[in-house]
Amino acid sequence: MPPMAILKSIAALAACGVASANAAALEPRQYKTQVTSKALIDTLQIENLFAKAEILQEIAYSTPGKNRVIGSLGHEKTVAYIRSQIDTDYYDVSLQGVELSVGINATLTANNKTIEAYTTTLAPAGTAAGPLVAIPNLGCEEADFAESLEGKVALIQRGTCSFGIKVQLAAAKKASAVIAYNNAEGTLEGYSLQVFPDPAKPFVPTVGVTQGQGEALLAQLESGVAINVALTSEANLTTTYNVIAETKQGDHENVIHVSGHSDSVTAGPGINDNGSGTVSLLELAVQLTNFTVVNAVRFSWWTAEEAGLLGAEYYVKQLSQAEKHKIRLLLDFDMMASPNFAYQIYDGDGSAFNLTGPTGSAEAEHEFAAYFDGIGLNHTEIEFDGRSDYGPFLEAGIAAGGIAGGAEGIKTQEEFEMFGGGAGVPYDVNYHENGDTVNNLNLDAWIEFSRAIAHMTAKYAVSWEGIPSRNSTVSQKRSENYGVMKRAFQRTKRYQAWV
Ligand SMILES: [Zn+2]
Repeated sequence: MPPMAILKSIAALAACGVASANAAALEPRQYKTQVTSKALIDTLQIENLFAKAEILQEIAYSTPGKNRVIGSLGHEKTVAYIRSQIDTDYYDVSLQGVELSVGINATLTANNKTIEAYTTTLAPAGTAAGPLVAIPNLGCEEADFAESLEGKVALIQRGTCSFGIKVQLAAAKKASAVIAYNNAEGTLEGYSLQVFPDPAKPFVPTVGVTQGQGEALLAQLESGVAINVALTSEANLTTTYNVIAETKQGDHENVIHVSGHSDSVTAGPGINDNGSGTVSLLELAVQLTNFTVVNAVRFSWWTAEEAGLLGAEYYVKQLSQAEKHKIRLLLDFDMMASPNFAYQIYDGDGSAFNLTGPTGSAEAEHEFAAYFDGIGLNHTEIEFDGRSDYGPFLEAGIAAGGIAGGAEGIKTQEEFEMFGGGAGVPYDVNYHENGDTVNNLNLDAWIEFSRAIAHMTAKYAVSWEGIPSRNSTVSQKRSENYGVMKRAFQRTKRYQAWV
């Protein structure tokens, strides 16, 4: 039957009052219309986004930890929920397991006095006892460590580099365990070593204490008091999942890849960070099934972003060079409903922060900017520093981009004039706190961010016009350049707030 006749018969059914659900069911897939930016944007309703955010919050609050952190029931249920919403007639869906050591319980005594301590994600389970040794200079360099720490426990402050590096250096000198102490307010509950263990440089059991507790131990050691510590760290090897859904239709050699992380921190349900991005993508994945695409669209919900971008890191590591080449552009979305938001676009061309992304990243930034310009919204730029899941893609030389509402950074006067809200106030005062709930989302920002994602997804689902074809030589050079820039960035204050 030719297309027109089908359309007419559906119209006739609708006209004579037959349930429109039936009409939709009768419509053969091949007669869907090709996606456009406007059509995909028009499918988005803030009510639908909000309803999904409420489901994520309910998932968190109905589980023992009241969060969606990796290794928790809340995160497992989040992954199951995402998976359940994806139409397997339209998408090929896979769950990619990432195995991690997730702490359960830690104990610590110093000279037989109990100190409250927390496990650290990725550190192995174990027990240790022995004299405590303070490591100078934050323990990011081999030279900070004594020749041998055999039978000893190393006391190391947070800062400058990831704890994974510090613990690997301590382990290389045969320390039996590490006590990590904070360099800011708060316990190190849920803290991660942030890098995968290298079999050649394994981790040792690591427990975290507060800054005050760490400094008190340090003061005793400095005044000549010997401290004997005993610690235990219980942990489970947990498999946590990336969810990957790719349209069955479209050119799989030229994929538009859109992603965000599905996990939260320990402190709360993580609804802006990153329930918002999770839901924006999920709603788009649902709505895209109403259309046809020319290029394959791949959605990914990464696990363990909060523990050091581990899900995305694992995913990129598993890709062959040929598979990397198929991803024409990776767009990542983290924190789409920050209460004191700014429309921040990753500075892919390096014009604002001198940190340039691989070929195609500049064009992605310009397209986001053109979109916001086109609807009369102000926008600004943020450093393309690899602080969310696009980082491993940048390092692999894959073009990337994205937008974000902002985390713990402070809104400037200039941004206040552009976006309203409050100057001198963080973009999200509830960042990584238990107040990151459905009640504290900026819904106006969220729908606009979601529309921008829809625009980019639809545009590149139809054509790669405007995005230069990937040139591996240039990409390689850019990615080396990125490595240099990243090391410079790691000395900045913004990075220090993160490690
Ligand atoms: Zn996040």
